[in-house]
Amino acid sequence: MIKGQRTPTESGCPDGFQYMHPLLRKHYGHCAYHEDPRPGVLKHTAHGGDAIYTVRAGTQRILDLFTLRKLCDIGDQYAEGYVRFTIRSNIEYMVADVSKVEPLIAALEKEGFVVGGTKNSVAMISHTQGWLHCDIPGTDASGVVKSMMDELIDEFKNWNMPNRVHITTSCCQINCGGQGDIAINIQHTKPPKINHDLVANICERPSVVARCPVAAIRPALVNGKPSLEVDEKKCICCGACYPPCTPMQINDPEHTKLAIWVGGNHSNARSKPTFQKLVAAGIPNNAPRWPEATAIVKKILQTYKDNARDWERLSDWIERIGWPQFFELTELPFTKFHVDNWRGARNSLNASTHIRF
Ligand code: SF4
Ligand code: SF4
Repeated sequence: MIKGQRTPTESGCPDGFQYMHPLLRKHYGHCAYHEDPRPGVLKHTAHGGDAIYTVRAGTQRILDLFTLRKLCDIGDQYAEGYVRFTIRSNIEYMVADVSKVEPLIAALEKEGFVVGGTKNSVAMISHTQGWLHCDIPGTDASGVVKSMMDELIDEFKNWNMPNRVHITTSCCQINCGGQGDIAINIQHTKPPKINHDLVANICERPSVVARCPVAAIRPALVNGKPSLEVDEKKCICCGACYPPCTPMQINDPEHTKLAIWVGGNHSNARSKPTFQKLVAAGIPNNAPRWPEATAIVKKILQTYKDNARDWERLSDWIERIGWPQFFELTELPFTKFHVDNWRGARNSLNASTHIRF
């Protein structure tokens, strides 16, 4: 540290080891194998024989203080005082004593939490922040997750699927979301509407112009005031101009839709990583229960469950049967725009720093 500089009071994430169950800390990096005694429970055994049980319950991610306190009280009373959250918003309790597992599950279920989400189940949908923290959402991610998980509760609680299924949502078209076997993403279908009275006061015009991936935005004078204009023929309705310039409103109750993408896989453990592909577009962004999107996700999951072989992830299954067969089995309408394998990306996507006019 430079002499005279104040001591930082906060710098990055705190050291996670201080919050870890002592047995996990002791054997960190020395797990010999793990087993799945029942849905929602994992047993990890270290070299040397020590074992620890993890009980997993789904949460709504955006937790109020009372629910958090309740979850912590359950951890103090029925577990061993240690919890952690997974990237898919599940809470996990670690216990070294096997006799605590069933009473812990009973306590969680009594309070309305659902235990599951391990092995070949549908894990909790990973959702983005939506209205609560973010400035650009076009839907309420938490609402979509809640509506879908209400209908997928049995798939969360049981091992019914050929392999694990990860589902994600995103509440705008350009940022988070999309790390899953199935992704439910926002899809804008109309260019932004510009409020010219506000642009000059609010927006840094050069950065908005630079933000557009297809160079569709130009500076313009409107009613004598500096503003912007959009070449609607070029605009791909991505919404990237809306975060730096809120007067370029793109969210719209009618024209902001949902789209469903499937087959993404980040891991290269057993097969190559894969891109997701669009399989359903223009789905109504129909709050508060999003029945149309939920019905499509359920149909895809049911078809995967009925047709895939054991251990095939969604992407492996589609790879084996082929996309035509996928559309036939799921009864989703197929158009030439739906499947892009990105091989033609040089023509269909602005993939370079060069701007094409
Ligand atoms: S998906 Fe978009 S709107 Fe939603 S939290 Fe992420 S950046 Fe914000
Ligand atoms: S929505 Fe996207 S493509 Fe259209 S003007 Fe804005 S940044 Fe450009």
